[in-house]
Formats: sequence, C-alpha cells, structure tokens
Amino acid sequence: MTGRGGFSSERVGALRAVCFDLDGTLFDHAGSARAGATGFLESLGLAASEPALNSWFAAEEEQFERWRSRRISFQEQRRERLRTVLPPLGYRPPADAVGLDSLFDSYLSSYRASWRAFPESLSLLQELRKRGYRLGLLTNGAEEQQLDKLAHTGLDGAFDAVCTSERIGFQKPDSRAFLTVAHELGVDASRCLFVGDNPAHDIVGARSAGMHGLLVNRYAEDAADIRTAVLACIMASGDAR
Ligand SMILES: [Mg+2]
Repeated sequence: MTGRGGFSSERVGALRAVCFDLDGTLFDHAGSARAGATGFLESLGLAASEPALNSWFAAEEEQFERWRSRRISFQEQRRERLRTVLPPLGYRPPADAVGLDSLFDSYLSSYRASWRAFPESLSLLQELRKRGYRLGLLTNGAEEQQLDKLAHTGLDGAFDAVCTSERIGFQKPDSRAFLTVAHELGVDASRCLFVGDNPAHDIVGARSAGMHGLLVNRYAEDAADIRTAVLACIMASGDAR
C-alpha cells in the first residue's frame, strides 16, 4: 500500500511517535522576543533600532547567565537588564525595586502579546496525527509559562503528551526526560523521532535515550522546511528497518 508522499505504510511502520521541542522548534522564540522588545521600547517612547534591540538581547543573555550561575536572583537579573539597557537609550528607569519590577511586567506583557508559533507548526502536527503518529512535546521550561504558550498559539490540543521539565523533574539532555515522554505516549523510545533545534539538549539527549533525532534550524535561510525534514526522516527510518 502506498501512502501520501509515495512511500509504503509498511516502511514507515518503524516509527510510532514524533516528539518535539518547543522554543525555536515549533514556537518562534526569537521572533516573539524581538516583537516583544520592540513593543516595550516603543511604549517608553524609544526607537527600537537594531543597536537598541541588540543591546536588549545582549543584556538578557548576560544577566540570565549571572542568574544561572547563581550570582544574582531571578528578579535581580530582570532589574539589571533595565538598569543597564535603558539609560544609554535616554530613558531613566525607576530607582526602586518595586518600580523596576512593575516596568519589567510591562515588558512581559508585550512579550506575551507577541507570542507566535512558526506558521507551519500546527498544520505539521495535524498532518502527522492524520498519518497515525502519536505526538509528544518535551520542553525545558516552567510548566505554567510553557502551557500558556501552547494555549496562546493554539498548539495546546495537538499533543498526546506534554512534558515540561518542571513537572517531570528531569531536564533535557537527561535521557530520563525523553524516556518519560515516551512512557506517557505509551511508545518505546526506539520508535520515537525527536525533533529539536539544540544539538546538545535535543539530539544528543534523544539519542542517549534510544530515540531517533532530527536537528532543525528554523532561522537558517537555506533550511529545508520542517515538514519536508520530518517526513524525510520518517522515510529514512522506515528504510533502515
Ligand atoms: Mg529549543
């Protein structure tokens, strides 16, 4: 029997599930963050020029790293971003913590209002489901924010299992994170394809759990579209068995 795409259903029988990373894979994190920062700067009367946005993202990376290495608190890294980025742009931020936190909340509102999935994400999930694959999501993130992203972008009903590292207690690339999503899907890990944009977290991790791994770069100009890449991988794995 030949299915859509010209390959036989027997050959694709090897895989039973496709699991995805969220940020940078199905969810346009960079585009959302850029639109969010643009809206925030403009709400302060500042021009969201390329240098201004670059300085915002450089401060985000630098201060987030200081929080990760436990040098400052989570809230303080947010305040430091405002303190370092805004004065050179000509905006004096509040001096007190309460004022800074309230200003950062307005950035978060702008960021959230800008949340977007990549345009083809939902249709790909729907097509895979029609083809009979179980669908999983595995993301290193906070449960509340990641579920909120799924709801906001309309991807929330597309999965059979949604695993956030906060809920399951394991983070990618720990193989136990991948084994957990396979378990929740009721599928052996060896019959799952994992699709993600981070080589170390997504691909090394998935393979250490016995899954197939597909690395995607949604921002590369010459990147094959994700649908083509996923279907090619499904065909290749079918060929290998
Ligand atoms: Mg990612």
